[in-house]
Amino acid sequence: MSWARKYLLYNPASRNKKELVGLVNDFQRFSVNDGPGIRTIVFLKGCPLHCFWCSNPETVSSCPEIMLISHNCIGCGKCIEVCPQNCYQHQNNIVSSVLRDKCILPECGDCQHVCYANAINISGRYLTVDEVMEEVLRDREFYERTGGGVTFSGGEPFAQPQFLLEMAHAAKLLHLHTAVETCGYVSWSIMSNILEYLDIVLFDLKHMDTEKHRQGTGVDNQRILDNLKRIDATGKTVRVRLPLIPDFNDSEKNIRETSAFISGLSNLEALDILPYHRMGEPKWDQLDCTYKIKGVTPHDKDKVYELAAIARTYGIEVTIGG
Ligand code: SF4
Ligand code: SF4
Ligand code: SF4
Repeated sequence: MSWARKYLLYNPASRNKKELVGLVNDFQRFSVNDGPGIRTIVFLKGCPLHCFWCSNPETVSSCPEIMLISHNCIGCGKCIEVCPQNCYQHQNNIVSSVLRDKCILPECGDCQHVCYANAINISGRYLTVDEVMEEVLRDREFYERTGGGVTFSGGEPFAQPQFLLEMAHAAKLLHLHTAVETCGYVSWSIMSNILEYLDIVLFDLKHMDTEKHRQGTGVDNQRILDNLKRIDATGKTVRVRLPLIPDFNDSEKNIRETSAFISGLSNLEALDILPYHRMGEPKWDQLDCTYKIKGVTPHDKDKVYELAAIARTYGIEVTIGG
């Protein structure tokens, strides 16, 4: 990658002031679980919630950040040489930690570019709407064949409202199907402004008990429940998604309360029960954060089927896995 390109990716101030940029964590092509058909998922950074089970913890911060995979380090020493802030600490030549307080991201990014062992990754790039669309359009043919499109996810996509608005608008101008996955903790004035460019909303509902919701995510659920009802009142199609977390929201009581609440919606397409998995666990270590449910085992299939069957008794369509 050229120096100029790298500078543009990591330093928003270096761009034309009039050009809007957003902080994108990653793209996932050929997704079939986040909206209809084959889709490209645009993962944005920044989230107002802090869920203890989050499988994408690198999307929570609204700043670029280093992800360090020490066991990939081959001890070449290049990151130590190039870091202008002396952020890297090592033991027996192997990089063991990064002094995050000293790191000057997004103005830098040099360490990632010299690490050929994939031990250093920077989560978050500033991209323009055109750059996002360029990536999304790579798979247009597949969207057309399957009824797919683009899904904006995160993090919380509404946390970058202007960027989301312009991406969704651009996608509609390109006749793409658009979806958003949201935690729902967004001011209604922001959300309602963008909804017209979205074909479907994938709405996460993590707990019906507001105190337990606060304990698990850092915020209560009142605004979330209100927004879900408001979206429904606009006539927009909604799929509610329940990440099923052991010993948090997997009680029969919570499944019944969730199902009863959403069965009152007029435009509900389905409830997607998303079984807990541990794929995000290593990323907490890479960010020097503590994963509080280390070692917790996912539910067995029977338990998930049993809860899905309870939800179906409320007359709603239920899928497992989305
Ligand atoms: S550049 Fe990568 S492989 Fe080399 S010392 Fe740094 S982390 Fe290890
Ligand atoms: S981004 Fe720059 S300042 Fe931060 S750790 Fe890497 S080389 Fe050092
Ligand atoms: S809402 Fe989603 S992205 Fe945000 S912390 Fe929770 S699980 Fe992670």
